[in-house]
Amino acid sequence: AKNAGKNRYRFFDEEMNRSQLRKLLLEKDLRKAMIHEEFKIMYQPKWDTGTNRLVGMEALLRWQHPQLGLVSPGEFIPIAEDTGIIVPLTRWILTEVCAQNKRWNDQNDMHVSISVNMSIRVFESGLLYEMVTEALHASGLPGGRLELEITESIAMSDVIDTIRQLHTVRELGVKVSLDDFGTGYSSLGSLDELPVDTLKIDQTFIRKSNQTPKQAIISNIITIARNLNMEVVAEGVETSEQIEFLQSRGCHVMQGYYYGKPMSVTDISSWLKHTQS
Ligand code: C2E
Ligand code: CA
Ligand code: CA
Ligand code: CA
Repeated sequence: AKNAGKNRYRFFDEEMNRSQLRKLLLEKDLRKAMIHEEFKIMYQPKWDTGTNRLVGMEALLRWQHPQLGLVSPGEFIPIAEDTGIIVPLTRWILTEVCAQNKRWNDQNDMHVSISVNMSIRVFESGLLYEMVTEALHASGLPGGRLELEITESIAMSDVIDTIRQLHTVRELGVKVSLDDFGTGYSSLGSLDELPVDTLKIDQTFIRKSNQTPKQAIISNIITIARNLNMEVVAEGVETSEQIEFLQSRGCHVMQGYYYGKPMSVTDISSWLKHTQS
């Protein structure tokens, strides 16, 4: 028994080391990944069930590591934030997304807004306005076709400065969404003071939208959005039951696997043809 305990301890130790080693390796390789063009941006549709039209897309980052294969953003974004790489990375994403959206505007007559996820680090860097204007100018994309997705945690840290920075980009026409809404701890009492255009209902609520308590929360989020003159988007929509429920409560814009997974630029083209036929 004594030996087993010892082995278990050693096993645990090795597991720890393995995950720490992986983190160190990812941290080291993240610096090279941008130069080596290992990042890829995927686009996930936002569908308006009221008008039956594509109304937007969310840009979601992928990292194809040369040895480890696909690394999920859930794993590498926190490391990119810790190391500060997230700031130049977000600059690159903004530039790519705006250029791609302009191409879709011009070549495919597709006029939607594309959202980019914003880390708290970008606000702390104070570079948001510069990065956004640069990406818009370089591409020629109108500001109204770019959207930033922020979470409640961003709004909580240095709320005065965050609001100030959000106002500066909104003057360019850029839209702001509050992501994962309902999961954070920010006070509802100051939601009306945030320069936000859209509330995104978190997917954990949608997943359980067959349960009465979650239905109550979803309904309330939709009501709050309506009363504050904000749009509302449901994310993580996977089933027709979820769609029916959301529509019955007045939410018509949906994002989720039911409509489309995050797709490459090439796959978006065929997806578009498929939905138009
Ligand atoms: P998020 O912003 O909440 O993005 C939604 C996540 O849900 C995405 O995971 C998306 O692929 C996934 N998803 C969408 N529809 C469905 C569905 O119907 N069912 C299920 N099960 N999942 C669905 P992903 O792409 O792995 O991204 C995870 C998180 O990583 C994002 O959560 C976001 O917080 C972060 N992230 C991704 N790309 C970026 C980026 O470019 N910058 C920053 N700062 N964060 C990013
Ligand atoms: Ca998001
Ligand atoms: Ca989300
Ligand atoms: Ca999330």
